[in-house]
Order: sequence, then structure tokens, then C-alpha cells
Amino acid sequence: STTPVKVAVTGAAGQIGYSLLFRIASGALLGPDTPVELRLLEITPALKALEGVVMELDDCAFPTLAKVEIGDDPNTIFDGANVALLVGARPRTKGMERGDLLEANGAIFTGQGKALNDHAADDIRVTVTGNPANTNALIAKSNAPDIPAERFSALTRLDHNRALAQLAKKTGTSVNDLKKLTIWGNHSATQYPDIFHAEVAGKNAAEVVNDQTWLENDFIPTVQKRGAAIIEARGASSAASAAAATIDHTRDWLRGSADGDWLSMAVVSDGSYGVPEGLISSFPVITKDGNWEIVQGLEINDFSRGRIDASAAELAEERDAVQQLGLI
Ligand code: NDP
Repeated sequence: STTPVKVAVTGAAGQIGYSLLFRIASGALLGPDTPVELRLLEITPALKALEGVVMELDDCAFPTLAKVEIGDDPNTIFDGANVALLVGARPRTKGMERGDLLEANGAIFTGQGKALNDHAADDIRVTVTGNPANTNALIAKSNAPDIPAERFSALTRLDHNRALAQLAKKTGTSVNDLKKLTIWGNHSATQYPDIFHAEVAGKNAAEVVNDQTWLENDFIPTVQKRGAAIIEARGASSAASAAAATIDHTRDWLRGSADGDWLSMAVVSDGSYGVPEGLISSFPVITKDGNWEIVQGLEINDFSRGRIDASAAELAEERDAVQQLGLI
């Protein structure tokens, strides 16, 4: 079709935005034959920088980029949006308590949830990248009662991709040989990268690795703390990989996961695997045509059980905190 798909991006002048917008505009999200209209939200002081980014988008002369709108009002920017990538969030600054962080982001995500509810297109799909991503998605969802709950998701695909890279390295294979890896829980240090159902060239990954010490003391903490390691090495937080994962997540949601494989996505829990109903938690999911389904029937061993429960408990605490603040 020739009608452009409207993709809204918040925090568009930020680091992740600087990688993300050019990939969306070049067709990486929707394919080379689908024109895209970018609708970019920023806070007022960042609009000038955003104008500079739009100048660069113009200068790329991307054949798939039909139009760009920018602004600081979500009611205008989300108007008619088919896809919303919520990247902008209030980062934790020095001296800020967790409650302060949740409150600052609460103001952003309540407003954006309401604006999506009132102005987005009927087929809207929402991906939250800005941290704390799961709880920000919960806040947006709760403030958008007319949008089906399953249209809200939070990003754990970067964690998934990081885990794939580590597992490929350990097993001397390529990421193309790996399937069925799962990130469970919160996009935080409690997330649990699970290789017990994963496959390396068709064989069970935990059996191929056969190294519990590596799993516990190397693999899991490396994936959990990868963000900090990148800040340490690069002097700035990961941005290009976060943008790539945001594209992977949303593209696969819209276009479908590969046969015989699954993805990790934080979606609203239906109580599967003992994760309390209503939390936005990462699960193994299969996607098709903009819908997702939690993979059912996986056997969860004791090692995995404790870790899934711990991350779900953290999400429940965050939910209780934002409930007390009146945000949901
Ligand atoms: P980034 O673009 O680097 O990050 C944006 C958000 O993504 C942060 O919350 C960050 O979390 C999160 N994130 C998720 N995964 C990752 C990852 N792997 N690595 C790094 N970040 C990750 O931040 P900038 O400060 O450069 O840009 C944010 C922009 O958002 C600013 O331009 C700001 O003006 C804007 N903003 C816009 C709003 C709006 O549109 N209404 C509201 C608030 C901010 P973490 O903080 O944990 O690193």
C-alpha cells in the first residue's frame, strides 16, 4: 500500500533515537516497500537538537521516508500513530531515589498512555524502551483503557541478543545456530537469561555447554551487567545496540517470529509460569501479524524457578510502588 505507516518515537533527539530513526527511515522496521511517516516527540528544550536530526534525515534522501513531524505535545505527535516506540524516559540522576525515578517517569508515561488512548490509530502497537521499561509500559497501559492490553510491550530483546552473543562465543558457533533462548522477568539486574530450553545447532544448549559454573558465574552476570560494562568501556551507555533491539522487537512483532524459534518480549502476564497476572514481564513468545502468544508447557527446573520468581517479585514491588503513587 502507499499510505505511509505512522511511527511515533519519543526521546527522538537522544542517543538511542540517533541510531533508531535512520534505520526506521531506511526500511529496517517495515521493509523496503513500505513508506513510513516519522512522528517525533521531544521535550521542549530538545526540539532544536531534534530539528538538526531531521535535517540529517532529509539529507539521507531515504526513498521510504514519506514525512517527518516533530513536536512536544504527545496528543499531536501520537495522532494516527500505528506504532509507538517510547524511548524517552527520565534517567536516574545522582541522589535520586527509586521512588523519585518512578514518579518522574510516571508523569511521562501516564500522559503518553492517555494521549495514545485518545489519538493513536486502532491498530496501535507500543514498544517501551525507556527505563524502567516494564513498569513504564505498565503505567502507559493502565492509562489507556481503550487500547487492548496486549498492544503494550517492553524491550528485553537487547538482553536476548546479548545472551545470544555470549552463548555463540562460548559454544564456538554463530548466532544463526541458536534458537529458543529466553529472557524472563524484568529488564533489570534480576532478569534471567535461560538456556535450558535453548538449542545450539539443534542440540540442547545446557547440555552442549555442560558448565554450571560458567552459567552461574559468567553467562548470567555478564548478560545482566552488560549495560554497565559498555558504559565503562565506551564512556557512554549503549545506544546503537538498544536501537537495533528496538527494531528487532517491533519488526518481529509485526512480521512474525521464525518457524521453530521464539523471541523474548515483556508482555502482560496471564499468570503463565507463575508470573502474577497483569505484570509486564518477559516471556518466551511466538509472534504473528502483530499478535503474540506466550510459549506454553516448558518445564521449569528449580534453578530457573528461583530466578523467575525473584524477577517477578521485583516487578510486583515496582507495581505496588506506582500504585501507591496513584499512577496506575
Ligand atoms: P538514551 O537515548 O541513551 O536512552 C533513552 C532511554 O532508553 C533511557 O531510559 C535508557 O535507560 C533506555 N535504555 C533502554 N535500554 C538501554 C540500553 N541498553 N542502553 C542505554 N539506554 C537504554 O538517552 P538520552 O538521554 O540520550 O536520550 C533521552 C531523550 O529522551 C532525551 O533527548 C530527552 O530529552 C528525551 N525525553 C523525551 C521525553 C518525551 O518525549 N516526552 C520524555 C523524557 C525524555 P537508562 O536511563 O537506564 O540508561
